[in-house]
Parts: sequence; structure tokens; C-alpha cells
Amino acid sequence: MAQEHGSIEAFPESLELTDDDSVLQIVWNDGHISRHRLDALRAACSCAVCQGHHPSQSLNLKPAQFPGIRITDIAPVGRYAYHIVWSDGHDTGIYTLKMLREMENPA
Ligand SMILES: [Zn+2]
Repeated sequence: MAQEHGSIEAFPESLELTDDDSVLQIVWNDGHISRHRLDALRAACSCAVCQGHHPSQSLNLKPAQFPGIRITDIAPVGRYAYHIVWSDGHDTGIYTLKMLREMENPA
């Protein structure tokens, strides 16, 4: 029922780096807790550089390509997404709240 119109109603109350800064933990205002391994989150980057403008251009990134990746900076984009700057210098990734909420990424 929260999936109507493809949007989510929950909003992050807190973002925290845990597990020796290798996991981004998000506590949502409905009590849900998401935990994202940073290597998997980096590999899931949906920007045009990583995914191309067509599936055939996708870099097909895998978490194993990003051992020890860290978040250099993270900032909200309006009320719908976060802009993440990665320690490998990649800074064009936008992670929507919907993606952060729905990504299956047990850590
Ligand atoms: Zn990217």
C-alpha cells in the first residue's frame, strides 16, 4: 500500500556509517532499518556514467570491484534522493530514497 504510484512515503530519520564505515545504515521514520554495504551500493550506482544511456552501455559494475570503498560525502537532494561522493572519486551518483528503501542488500 505504500507502493502506490511507485513512490514511498517513508523518509530517512538518520543515516549512519557502521561496521567500520563499510555499511550505510538508514533508519526510516516508520521504524524500518536499511543496511547497505558500500561496495554493493557503489556497484548499484544508477548514473549515466555507470549505466550508460542504454543497457548495452552499462559498465556492469560488481561489488567485488570496490573493496574498501568509502563514502567521502553524502548530501540530500531535495526530499527525494541523496548525492554520494565516493572515495574512488566518483561523484555523479544520485541514490533516490525509493532505491535506498527497496534495494535488497543484506549486510
Ligand atoms: Zn555512477
